[in-house]
Amino acid sequence: MSTLLTEATTPVNSEAEQKARFYMHLSLPSSRAAHAATPIPSPIPIPIPIPILLGSRFLIWKQDPSVTDPGIRLTFIPTLVLDGPQDSRVTTNLAATTPVHASTNRDFIFTPGTPEFDCAHSFAIVRETLTMYQRIRGGAPLPWAWNTGGNIDPISVFPRAGVTPNAFYSRADKALKFFFFTPSGASLPVFTCRSLDIVAHETGHSVLDGLKPGWLGGANPPQTGGLHESFGDLTAIFLALSQLDQVESALAQTKANLHDKNFLASLAEQFGVALGFPQGLRNADNDLKLSQVGNEVHAISQVFTGGIYDVLADIFAFEKNRQSATKDPARVLLEVASQLCSVLVDALIAAPATGATYADVVNQMLNISNTRGEPVIYRTFLRNRFTLREVVVSPTPLNAMLEGRINLNDPGFVEGKDLLKLDAHRHPSDKAPQDRSDCCGTMQRLEYLIDDQAKLQAGGSASHDDLLSSQTAELRRAFK
Ligand SMILES: [Zn+2]
Repeated sequence: MSTLLTEATTPVNSEAEQKARFYMHLSLPSSRAAHAATPIPSPIPIPIPIPILLGSRFLIWKQDPSVTDPGIRLTFIPTLVLDGPQDSRVTTNLAATTPVHASTNRDFIFTPGTPEFDCAHSFAIVRETLTMYQRIRGGAPLPWAWNTGGNIDPISVFPRAGVTPNAFYSRADKALKFFFFTPSGASLPVFTCRSLDIVAHETGHSVLDGLKPGWLGGANPPQTGGLHESFGDLTAIFLALSQLDQVESALAQTKANLHDKNFLASLAEQFGVALGFPQGLRNADNDLKLSQVGNEVHAISQVFTGGIYDVLADIFAFEKNRQSATKDPARVLLEVASQLCSVLVDALIAAPATGATYADVVNQMLNISNTRGEPVIYRTFLRNRFTLREVVVSPTPLNAMLEGRINLNDPGFVEGKDLLKLDAHRHPSDKAPQDRSDCCGTMQRLEYLIDDQAKLQAGGSASHDDLLSSQTAELRRAFK
């Protein structure tokens, strides 16, 4: 009997020892080998995964209540969310409602239309936007504008901040405020917090303000303001394109042609319809050129948004073709969008701290694309699209593009040279003051009308005294 036992156990231990030596040789954690060395219990227990301790489910509109496909879906936020909802970066504030309590499963699933739903929805979109940008920057926390010198204050989200057809990000209030209104002739109000596009847009302002605190100031040239507005719209597009269900839905809607009408390019659909714009508040798939928009920041922003959207569609067409045998188009679009978003954010960060122009950002994108080893044809797309929009000047004509001769089978396709720096296309309105009259609430905040660039870049904002300084100086002279 004892002999049999010995014979039965010796090979097992011997094999375990071999494994242990093997893992030691590889310098890998040898916990498995150590376990294997212990007697195997009988019967062998079913392996139970480590319980998931964090993460909550939220019910959200994937676009807004007027967009029935992809409609309303559950989304999973894999980090710890406390009652509020809140975490260390984002809090929610709605009188008589917050803190909203999670279910016993730590989920925030509420009936659409209720105040609790609006709090959960707004929190989820803000959180997902911040997480998206942190992921493409390697996972490090991205600061809000006031997170300097050890300040870790979160941003406060107000889903129902009051009655007006608008929404804004306020650095001074450390807040995102979403308003609601009843369109003329309608019986029910429109809540801006229920739009993924609007919540993502305003969160985009707050993320960019943390990265480039000198850009919101009203003394910047029109294109710098345009970059802020455009980043808001592009944030909504990139957030949608970071979600598998939205990507699949958009591709099915367009048969994988991003220039076909789709919910990605149409921004803030319900809000736009309420204000009389049946295609949504803005259309990223536009053909605007800088010479057509003057110094009106909202219109200027559409030139940059449209250029990036065109480049996205071009790169997707190229990669869809190149990877058709190995990947589903949805996976290709998810990856292409993430890479383009990453190049854009790095380019924005590398652009000048104040007064940045579209050409500054495009040239940074060309450089970053080259440094990352992206195919030359990516930079051909960038050059072509932003030349057509009169942002940069191409030293070689765009004949291949205009004649439909770009070879999508050639990653190295370029007309002329693969240049990494292009001249800016100059316009008389480049130096004009910004006209922010048609912008979202953020760009119309008085707090950014500040001449003190050092204060602006340090995360400060205009106080009442700053705003009234010329009036008070005049009064002091008058009342001597
Ligand atoms: Zn805006």
